Amino acid sequence: MRLRRRTTALASTLAAGALTLTLAGPALADSAPQPSAPSATGFAPSTGEHRDDTVPYAPKSTPAATPLSADQLRSAAGATTLSATAASTTVHQLDIVVVNPSSTVKNSATSADASSLVADVSAYWSGQSNGKASFVVKKFTTITSAASCKTTSGITSMWTAASKAVAGNDWWGGGNPTSGPAAREHLVVLYPFASGDHDGSTTCDGTLGLGTTPTTPSVTNNGLTFALFGSTDATVDHAAGAEYYTSRQSLAHELGHNFGLQHASTWWCGSGHTDGAFTSTACGMLSYLDPFDVMGAGFGDQGVPALSGPQKLRLGLLTSSQHKTVTDTSTVTLQPVPQSETGAPAGLQATQVKDPSTGETYTVEYRPSLPGVTFPAGSPFGTYSIDNGAGAYTIGYGVRVLRLAPADTTYWSKNEQALAPVGSASSATSYLPAGQTFTTRSGKVSIKVAGQGSTATVSFVVHRKARLSLSRSATAQRYRQTAVRLTARTATTNGAVPTGTVTFKDGSKALKTVTTSSTGVASYTLPKTLSVKAHTITAVFIPNSATRARFVETSPVSTTVKVTKAASAASVKLAHTTVRKGAKPKVTVKVSVKGITGPTGTVRLYENGHKVKTVTLSASRKGTLVVTLPKTTKRGTVKIVAKYSGSSTILAKTSNTAKLRVS
Ligand SMILES: [Zn+2]
Repeated sequence: MRLRRRTTALASTLAAGALTLTLAGPALADSAPQPSAPSATGFAPSTGEHRDDTVPYAPKSTPAATPLSADQLRSAAGATTLSATAASTTVHQLDIVVVNPSSTVKNSATSADASSLVADVSAYWSGQSNGKASFVVKKFTTITSAASCKTTSGITSMWTAASKAVAGNDWWGGGNPTSGPAAREHLVVLYPFASGDHDGSTTCDGTLGLGTTPTTPSVTNNGLTFALFGSTDATVDHAAGAEYYTSRQSLAHELGHNFGLQHASTWWCGSGHTDGAFTSTACGMLSYLDPFDVMGAGFGDQGVPALSGPQKLRLGLLTSSQHKTVTDTSTVTLQPVPQSETGAPAGLQATQVKDPSTGETYTVEYRPSLPGVTFPAGSPFGTYSIDNGAGAYTIGYGVRVLRLAPADTTYWSKNEQALAPVGSASSATSYLPAGQTFTTRSGKVSIKVAGQGSTATVSFVVHRKARLSLSRSATAQRYRQTAVRLTARTATTNGAVPTGTVTFKDGSKALKTVTTSSTGVASYTLPKTLSVKAHTITAVFIPNSATRARFVETSPVSTTVKVTKAASAASVKLAHTTVRKGAKPKVTVKVSVKGITGPTGTVRLYENGHKVKTVTLSASRKGTLVVTLPKTTKRGTVKIVAKYSGSSTILAKTSNTAKLRVS
């Protein structure tokens, strides 16, 4: 588990209407772009304490959820002014512990404010999850603590004290394997804002909250949270309930961490590219910089913004009819992201597309303004300066392209949600303007807003990889005698058979280009003259214009064809079957090779197994030699055999045996 600490820095920077997002100061572990990318300089708070710590959370076995009895519920209700509702399988139970700081001039938040806070946050999450998750108070108590809320260790020590007060166990650091919140149970430590600290910049030195984050996201997860907490009473040492609204957003955010969500951030590449690889040293994450997602910094004035598509998909909150994955060149209609899934219009909210080259998934959603979610005047909309003025970034509503970080690094957390800027780095927007195209860095996926109003029409161009197969009639052919037939075939892609031409190559040498049939088949018989060796034969598909219009591509495929030596035949024939002793018999040796008129090599002649003559077979002989053998010296029968040596292209062969009678 990891801890995510929520700070006020971004919210206050933007709320103040500052026009630059380039902040000096030390690079922060989780929020700074990579140091080797000097053009993508930091997006870091200006003081050293606003860090996003990670703290190991010792794994503990989680006891099974125990339904509360009516007595327990009454007891919880009786102990406080909070209302308690019967738990169900979807309802999460909050153990609320309000910290009474021993040394802080606190505001006047009451238990009634805590009750409102839980009710509001429960309504928010119930809306986000269409009833899959909501919250009730299980216990409510207060503790006094002198621990500092300015450090992670101070906050975790409050968790220790709070869990002891709630359960008698140290849920954070106790090491008791049976300790820890039950399933769907959260220890919520609420800490009052210092009087008048409307934005939380001084109470805990910028920290607004902290939450444990499990690695597997689920709305059934439990966890520990910390959040600043203010009153709903606008007359009590703050302005118009601002502290209450901040605490509502903070608690909703921290419970999102408890469910397993990471931050909603913005991706930034200083090199002029908006879509860099996560491994690129020129790109980095501007952590929290998504004002339209609860897991961002909390830019809102009132209301808690809805989750984005990737976050909802990670939690399994969208139905099959609310999201789809586009694999083809196609157009979709996106419904705007609703503030609540309860009663939301049917239709697509998120469309995912996977880049066939990089394998990376992009999620596209349509973000409108949301009812009840308001922002401070002048924020966050408008154009900001990034990279010491080298980049300009305009934030606004519209169609957004989002990615998820694939792994934990020094610079971002695994599954941190990255909003992809659109346009060039010197003039980027947080949304895709109508008519403008976002193209992934591989160039294989393009996303364009064809129109937007009550819904957004988004067209996708996806370059598809068609499978090209290559088969052969045999694994080998004989030099100049047999030939292997190759068949290349394209697989149906994007609902059609890719057609075009196939060029067959021997190594790098093109042999023949063949037009495919309407069924995507191109066949070719290899030349019989291929040299004797193993050949790598490659088929390269070149799509025709109709196939190109569907953005179908293939990778070349190869196979090996072995070319073996040609088979030969050899015969020996006597000029006379009987000769007198002392005569020089004549024989005719014939070497015949199908497909080769002038076989070359050496012919050795044997009499009764003894070599008696060697003759060179030159091509001009066309396979026929008339040989005069040595003088016969003995009467009797002589067995004569010719052995053809073969050549670099022809197999050797031994002839028949001719019987010569010497009288
Ligand atoms: Zn956070």
